[in-house]
Amino acid sequence: MSDAFRFCPRCGAALTQAVHGGRPRPACAQASCGFVQWGNPTPVVAAIVEHGDDVLLVRGKGWPEKLYGLVSGFLEAAEKPEDGVLRELREELGLEGTVVRLVGVYPFELRNEVIVAYHVRASGEVTVGDELEGYKRVPRSKLRPWPFGTGLAVADFLAARGGVT
Ligand SMILES: [Zn+2]
Repeated sequence: MSDAFRFCPRCGAALTQAVHGGRPRPACAQASCGFVQWGNPTPVVAAIVEHGDDVLLVRGKGWPEKLYGLVSGFLEAAEKPEDGVLRELREELGLEGTVVRLVGVYPFELRNEVIVAYHVRASGEVTVGDELEGYKRVPRSKLRPWPFGTGLAVADFLAARGGVT
């Protein structure tokens, strides 16, 4: 894991490997401290945003050209996932939306995340937020999944519709 601590974030002592919960994990060498880096995945909320007859995909700052994904982001503390996904929609595209349904929950091992993906219907005028390089509209009939991360949610979304748009 790239975000692994080298020193204990609680007391500053060196971390060593120790078995906790059945496998070796970085843990504080100070018995009195007890810190263990569990490395639990971080939940991310994502939205398949329907806007009129189109789905809106976004491109984050610094992303490779032509790479577009779903509106997505981390939850705030104590935030309900449904509220978080609508907040991300406001922040990224300046749109109000309603959650239609949960599409699915997808582990994304590469980034140690769990993606919670919703189908969201949005309305209003798009205003691209600070975090984004841009966005694009894709007619529902032209939407194609990509084979990683939020693309798995797009595949399930399309399968559930049985190709009917
Ligand atoms: Zn410690």
